[in-house]
Amino acid sequence: MARRRILVVEDEEPIRRGVCDVLRMAGFDALEAADGESGLKSARAHAIDLLLLDLALPRLDGMEVLTELRKTHPTLPVIILSARGSELDRVQGLSQGADDYVVKPFSAKELLARVEAVLRRCPERPDPVQRIEGGGHAVDLDRCEVRFAEGEVAPLSEMETEIFRHLAANPARVITREELLARVWGINDSKLETRAVDMHITRLRSKLVTGCGESPVNWITTVRGKGYMMGSGLTVIRRDSVEPQQNVETDGS
Ligand code: CA
Repeated sequence: MARRRILVVEDEEPIRRGVCDVLRMAGFDALEAADGESGLKSARAHAIDLLLLDLALPRLDGMEVLTELRKTHPTLPVIILSARGSELDRVQGLSQGADDYVVKPFSAKELLARVEAVLRRCPERPDPVQRIEGGGHAVDLDRCEVRFAEGEVAPLSEMETEIFRHLAANPARVITREELLARVWGINDSKLETRAVDMHITRLRSKLVTGCGESPVNWITTVRGKGYMMGSGLTVIRRDSVEPQQNVETDGS
């Protein structure tokens, strides 16, 4: 399995450095950003497994980053780092979709314990997508197969299934070849192998085109110069109860 990649968004340099050092020493791959805007950009540009997010940040505050990020990354684990330890901030952070909250100052040991705990709860990035449907055909991610409208079934390889899983989990954004390499193949630092992604997608498409026969479906859209997106007009069937509704009580203050 590829090394887990963690993005640290924190404007205070000594803290950011310290946190990144601790993470690297513990075997994680650490990325860093010093303000909310570049943090959000970085979270969207890279395949990350966890976000450590400060609340008081220049350019875009942590809560805004979290709200924006949840639109495209509903299940990405997020731990808030903050000097504010008040109950209200804590409740607000958790109700906005953070998975945990660490109050500064914290020890390396405490931070790592929280990181490990959150990653354990989301071992493989819980993925709510079960099936993708279009034109009477269905890509079944649990069974790794495509069931065509005519009744034929074609098996999907593990990689092909993972490509679909990742595109469907992020339907609102373009997925770069680098991100697919990182997510599907676990290759984090190679630009040389992106052609392998194109080859897989080409093969996958021709398999799908043949089976779809009379009612063709655009399963995967190529975005020129950028990467791939899930095709439009498809229906994504999600597993329910993966993301339990947050019932955080607030007193309205
Ligand atoms: Ca700060």
